Amino acid sequence: MLMRNRNLEVQMKDSTLCVHVGSYPDLNEGGINTPVYLSSAHLFPHPSGELRYPRYSNLPTQLGPAEKIAGLEHGERCLLFSSGMAAISTIFLALLSKKEHCVVQSDIYGGTRKFLSRELVRYGINFSLVESNDPDAFEREIRPNTKLLYIESPSNPLLRLVDIEKIAEIAEKHHIISVIDSTFATPINQKPIDMGIDVVVHSGTKYLGGHSDITCGAVVANRSIMDRIGEAQKSIGGTLDPFSSFLLDRGLKTLPLRVARQNDNAFEIARRLEKSPKIQKVHYPGLKTHPDHDLARRQMHGYGGIVTFTMNGALETARKFTQGLSLIKGAISLGGIESIVCFPFETSHAGMRKEEREQMGIQDTTLRLSVGIEDQEDLVSDLDRALSSL
Ligand SMILES: *Cc1c(COP(=O)(O)O)cnc(C)c1O
Repeated sequence: MLMRNRNLEVQMKDSTLCVHVGSYPDLNEGGINTPVYLSSAHLFPHPSGELRYPRYSNLPTQLGPAEKIAGLEHGERCLLFSSGMAAISTIFLALLSKKEHCVVQSDIYGGTRKFLSRELVRYGINFSLVESNDPDAFEREIRPNTKLLYIESPSNPLLRLVDIEKIAEIAEKHHIISVIDSTFATPINQKPIDMGIDVVVHSGTKYLGGHSDITCGAVVANRSIMDRIGEAQKSIGGTLDPFSSFLLDRGLKTLPLRVARQNDNAFEIARRLEKSPKIQKVHYPGLKTHPDHDLARRQMHGYGGIVTFTMNGALETARKFTQGLSLIKGAISLGGIESIVCFPFETSHAGMRKEEREQMGIQDTTLRLSVGIEDQEDLVSDLDRALSSL
């Protein structure tokens, strides 16, 4: 007794889509929400004619949030994964074979780089890292056996952008699949498929879930690419379980609200921090001082909830600052409703040599702030208090 809201899917704006798409209401009980279907054993033959099994990602509780994300990304199909890394590793394993090659942006998520250099190369798949965010630099690395082009925009933690449309054009010209990790942007602030990208991946652990209480990933693409990724997912097994799928679905319903608030809060905080004499540099794509500001205006609908900034003085000063914060907690991860702050040098970029980090622009006193949905004035006061105590 399932009822899908498929007929509503056309022409819905993001906020409506997040509430109504992917609903499988419980008509037996008259409940308007999709039940949490936990069964791992299903009737066979099944009334739907399909083979139902959680690892196949085909329970209504799993389908609902996937349909929402596919709709948000303007893609044909979405699959959910047990983590962002399960999603990312499955993409590479599904779309590349022995002796093939991929071109990858160098300042991508540390876990992705580790997967490429420790795992993927053992299967005879090679990759080239592109140090620049100039699309021509990506094209120069393309070889006859290159099958995939991988970017991340905005990047972590300096929020550098890649020209998504240009990358998509290059990939198309060379008949290569283009992939973007769009985690930092969210599907609200950026629609890579509209710009010609083939595959969009998210760590749903961050904004999509949005409450810092689940680990998940999502991949969106057209049906033929998703069929290949789906077959690999069934074998590798990194599917999202029904409980987490339910929490993801619940989180997605408020994604546009949360992201709008986080965009607003982050922009205001970036503006305020930029004025402080205790801060050396603020990295935020919404600021005119950001090197990719013009590109951000062209390809993003909002500038996001992450603000990265470098403090004046030594590490002790920056530590004193974070200890002086009371509302904003020191914590790893990002994208949740609560504001948290961390030092990239000792978290995301701890594996890198200091000189290498500093060359990129990440100092020991660089902080990454993931801005939550709290009241803007409360957040600003918390930051002001900690800054004035220095
Ligand atoms: C967190 C993150 C990942 C990895 O996601 P997990 O859910 O932790 O596996 C990948 N890419 C980016 C940009 C991230 O921030």
